[in-house]
Amino acid sequence: MTGSTARDGRTFVVVGASLAGAKAAETLREEGFTGRVVLLGEEPELPYERPPLSKGYLLGSDERGSVFVHDRAWYDEQRIELHTGVRVEAIDRDAHTVSLVDGERIGYDALLLTTGSVVRELPVPGADLAGVHYLRRIEHSDALRDRLTDGTRVVVVGGGWIGLEVAAAARTRGAAVTLVEIDALPLRRVLGDEVAQVFADLHVAHGVDLRLGTGVREIVGAGGHVASVTLDDGSSVPADVVVVGIGITPAVELARGAGLDVDDGVLVDASLRTSDPRVWAAGDVANVQHPLLGRRVRVEHWANALHGGPAAARSMLGQEVVYDRVPYFFTDQYDLGMEYSGLAGPGDYERVVFRGDVAGREFIAFWLADGRVLAGMNVNVWDVTEDVERLVRSGERVDPARLADPAVSLAEV
Ligand code: ADP
Repeated sequence: MTGSTARDGRTFVVVGASLAGAKAAETLREEGFTGRVVLLGEEPELPYERPPLSKGYLLGSDERGSVFVHDRAWYDEQRIELHTGVRVEAIDRDAHTVSLVDGERIGYDALLLTTGSVVRELPVPGADLAGVHYLRRIEHSDALRDRLTDGTRVVVVGGGWIGLEVAAAARTRGAAVTLVEIDALPLRRVLGDEVAQVFADLHVAHGVDLRLGTGVREIVGAGGHVASVTLDDGSSVPADVVVVGIGITPAVELARGAGLDVDDGVLVDASLRTSDPRVWAAGDVANVQHPLLGRRVRVEHWANALHGGPAAARSMLGQEVVYDRVPYFFTDQYDLGMEYSGLAGPGDYERVVFRGDVAGREFIAFWLADGRVLAGMNVNVWDVTEDVERLVRSGERVDPARLADPAVSLAEV
């Protein structure tokens, strides 16, 4: 800054008016940046948070207004030039411009990509029938919510977080739910067998018909609308509504078109900078060299958008940034609430240690390798996230017997 009234002459452009993008713009202002901040989003809505779309908002307990990061007036007050319903077509890295679909070009001094991800589509006949839903955007949640009523027959395809949260919302609203998961257990690839079983049991206890180890062969329609789902094992499940939650892929099209390094996301270093020193990436789309984990990770969760956007903003401002947060996420299903900190898929860990009452669904699970805690999950146990994160971050060997003993405080472990 040259003076208290002079404005910085630079323009920072953010592509992706998501949580990560909005938080980045907010941080630029908080950190005192006075130049232009341009926030471009393809969706027609103001930036919003996605977790409620498969939880409270889908259930009808959270109001529409509660999901938005800020209201429209806030962006104006902050001089953040928010353009929604605008698709960025290309990045010219030599000219330092982004071009919009109508041909308009916007120059940038620094560019942040928070383009997020797109849902994986189910590649089977009938997937385009009316009554087949995906869940990514607010309008998807609106459309689905209207259909989740008493007695509706819902088939959920995919037992990841989205599939399970939708199944819980549908059951809570009185729908009959069948959940089809191609793997041996829902969430097995994320949690491993031991804790995945807890979620399988939870849904069975709430009346979900779990069909495991089978995919979908075909969605069969009647009069253009879904009528049943044929599984790989040949069985047929009647359906009024099908919800597909089989994962997402990072939205790298723009980055790839611009020749940035891309491999399962936009490759960024620990300061969230891409292979181009004027371009950063954060959120779902960023594949980050993670100093704590010692490898690349791409985290598709809310907390990573919430913290990654601001970290990228500080990095764009020339601050020393090392993005080394312990990955974190949470879910709510029926009366089960949990938080997960760390990262430990099957193959990463050697054993799971439980502390508390697993059958009563009030416990903490720890994933261990070589005596060190890779991840922890607190289920219906609260205010322990900091302790769990500290265990993950420390990388020190712990005594599994003390870890399992609720009489020993986590801080002492
Ligand atoms: P999401 O974010 O949509 O929940 P995840 O990748 O966490 O995505 O989980 C997707 C789940 O869908 C995984 O458990 C995976 O095994 C399952 N899955 C993938 N393809 C199919 C399929 N064709 N039929 C049934 N389940 C599938």
